[in-house]
Amino acid sequence: MAMCTEDDTDQAIARAVRAQRSWNALAPADRARLLRRFAEAVDADREHLAWLEVQNSGHTIGNARGEAGNVRDVLHYYSAAPERLFGRQIPVAGGVNATFQEPLGVVGVIVPWNFPMPIAAWGFAPALAAGNAVVLKPAELTPLTAIRIGELALEAGLPEGLLQVLPGQGAVVGQRFVTHPDVGKVVFTGSTQVGKSIMAGCSEQVKRVTLELGGKSANIVFADADLERAAATAPYGVFDNAGQDCCARSRILVQRAVYERFMDLLEPAVRGVVVGDPSDEKTEMGPLISAQHRARVAAHVPDGAPVAFRGEHPSGPGFWYPPTVLAPVDLDDPVFAEEVFGPVVAVVPFDDEADAVRIANRTDYGLSGSIWTRDVGRALRVSRAVQAGNLSVNSHASVRYSTPFGGFKQSGLGRELGPDAVDAFTETKNVFIATEPD
Ligand code: NAP
Ligand code: MG
Repeated sequence: MAMCTEDDTDQAIARAVRAQRSWNALAPADRARLLRRFAEAVDADREHLAWLEVQNSGHTIGNARGEAGNVRDVLHYYSAAPERLFGRQIPVAGGVNATFQEPLGVVGVIVPWNFPMPIAAWGFAPALAAGNAVVLKPAELTPLTAIRIGELALEAGLPEGLLQVLPGQGAVVGQRFVTHPDVGKVVFTGSTQVGKSIMAGCSEQVKRVTLELGGKSANIVFADADLERAAATAPYGVFDNAGQDCCARSRILVQRAVYERFMDLLEPAVRGVVVGDPSDEKTEMGPLISAQHRARVAAHVPDGAPVAFRGEHPSGPGFWYPPTVLAPVDLDDPVFAEEVFGPVVAVVPFDDEADAVRIANRTDYGLSGSIWTRDVGRALRVSRAVQAGNLSVNSHASVRYSTPFGGFKQSGLGRELGPDAVDAFTETKNVFIATEPD
């Protein structure tokens, strides 16, 4: 795959500036119609996109289908926005005061390799709906589905240059989004380390930025929970996408009274995760993204690490790593503090509600988490006390296109998805019109 240079990036941004003007000049209903057509083009290509993602990223075919469907859904959801980009009329003396939600111009979206399709769409769909053009840099390892989505945008009739996919290096193409004066906002998803440098770079031009960074989320299991369900689902809360998920519940906190029982139930659940060829419909977990990433994951589980039990993986080609459960671990062990981004989970006991909250919050991250209990009051108390953006009670589902998603603390800045995401791609303009002579 040819990589875009800095010069290619500058030319793409210049095309985006022109495309944005014509896009913004269209009637809101026409922009809405084109976004719906784009959604329908993605829908018609869903199976193709899904298989492309299996090749691209090693995602299981089941997950990849869901991810392609998510792109369609996100586009449909935000296609309603151009006609609902309301300002406000605010009562003032001597005239009429109105606010307008103005587009930012060109938005740069930088996407990681772990969920190439959804993460791209969470940026470009609301950005386009708000009247912006988008330049999108996929991760070097996973450009294929993003490129296909860019083709589908053109086939659906979006103006040339409105959504451009620029495969290339982070330090070249991504960095140019940060420094180019015609890019009004950068949406970055990836590591906390690179996210901090993007934020620092954007500060030079007071450029808008949304960051979705890492996580070290807690799955908190209270003694009064449905333990069978909590244990049966815990592996999928962390091993989905081979743990390469910023929302992975990679710390399991279990109330001491049921710790042994929970571990007894967790073991068969972990051994039951079907690890294998991602193109096999029955597969639940595929390989890791690259040899380099597997080495990084493996380094978190050195010889002598307290492996309680682990699953199996195929022996053929592929960057395999088995689902791995570590216990007992110390709260200060690196594996309990650092994001592994692989199929590794650490389990610790806790004493009471306060202890659970204290351990859950003992991290610089704050993206998601799960709470298992039958006590409604406790579910709400703990949900309010855990410092994270996306919590689920008796469930591990934390991302829906219709609800806000993002991190507390060093897990990010700003929110994606949900009813307010379009606002993050606009500036509020206030206009006062005098109705009285001075
Ligand atoms: P990364 O290095 O932060 O990369 C994410 C994206 O940013 C890629 O498109 C990357 O391009 C680009 N990039 C890298 N350096 C850049 C720079 N200086 N300026 C602008 N863009 C730049 O993340 P990664 O290496 O893919 O993954 C490393 C770790 O990040 C993971 O182990 C995990 O902890 C975390 N992560 C979190 C999420 C999340 O959803 N929150 C997603 C993925 C990764 P290249 O493709 O050229 O590197
Ligand atoms: Mg990197």
